[in-house]
Amino acid sequence: MIINMIPGATEEQINHIVERIKECGFQPHLIQGAERTVIGVVGKNRGRRNEVEALRAAPGVEEVIPIAQPFTLVSRELQPERTVVEVAGVRIGGPEIVVMAGPCSVESREQLLETARSVKAAGANMLRGGAYKPRTSPYDFQGLGVEALGILKEAHEETGLPIVTEVMGVEEIEAVAECADMLQVGARNMQNFPLLRRLATVPRPILLKRGPSATVKEWLLAAEYLLSGGNSNIVLCERGIRTFETETRNTMDLAAVALVKELCHLPVIVDPSHATGRRSLVPAASRAAIAIGADGLMIEVHPCPERALSDGPQSLDLAGFTDLMNGLRRPLNRFVAAG
Ligand code: PEP
Ligand code: MN
Repeated sequence: MIINMIPGATEEQINHIVERIKECGFQPHLIQGAERTVIGVVGKNRGRRNEVEALRAAPGVEEVIPIAQPFTLVSRELQPERTVVEVAGVRIGGPEIVVMAGPCSVESREQLLETARSVKAAGANMLRGGAYKPRTSPYDFQGLGVEALGILKEAHEETGLPIVTEVMGVEEIEAVAECADMLQVGARNMQNFPLLRRLATVPRPILLKRGPSATVKEWLLAAEYLLSGGNSNIVLCERGIRTFETETRNTMDLAAVALVKELCHLPVIVDPSHATGRRSLVPAASRAAIAIGADGLMIEVHPCPERALSDGPQSLDLAGFTDLMNGLRRPLNRFVAAG
């Protein structure tokens, strides 16, 4: 439920509502807008909903809106203004499209530094690179772990690009948070609830990828875990879902991007590399993502994709990424009215 206070509601009136919400067994979340205060009522205590609804009659309350969706804090009903997430000076969700680029996995110092310099020169805003890799087979390259974190740090120091890298388990959070500016929750971990609960308490923005078979509702509820636990710097990432189609690695669900932007105030980016699995489709898919309103892109780039230890077929080479950025330049002026 959402309680809209009247413009000019007094502190005393607001405090009274906050106290009543707590007495009814819910948690209040205050959003102080320029004009008015809106209070989100969160919790699963269904028994005393009526008492909260009765606050409609309390002084200073304009309306009490029961919300149909199971999520609250991520909802635009609670916060109509878009959230802008800042990652070490890069603003995601504002007027500019943000491009995160880099290899699927950090494989060596040379590979990462060469990629970092090149994607920076081409106009990327952030550097990606996996240190801990979620691989389908236990026999595949699993990532360089701590060594990769050191290499990412060095690339950041040299290029100034903020780093985004995946954290797979609770036990890695501390080490990853020390080197990364943004922590990525991979598709396979979208519903790893203990991980989400811990990440909610970490003072780093989170990139939350959509699970390969997650509905939009499940994805937004995963984000709700992070917000309700105290972390509101969340960026969502559509990376393709599993369908009957096998010609592409996944099916890029662009309608979901537009839908999520309608339902939710958080920024949404698209990863056309994992969504298509094919290098040749990445530039067109990137343009489509921006056209539908995505706030940014995550693109896999490797100096020599044929030698990549993971995801070579979907990785652009350095020249390919530069071409993609040049091709995006016009749409970067956003030809779609922001929703
Ligand atoms: C990745 O970004 O390299 C990755 C493993 O992505 P996803 O979790 O979307 O599969
Ligand atoms: Mn990958």
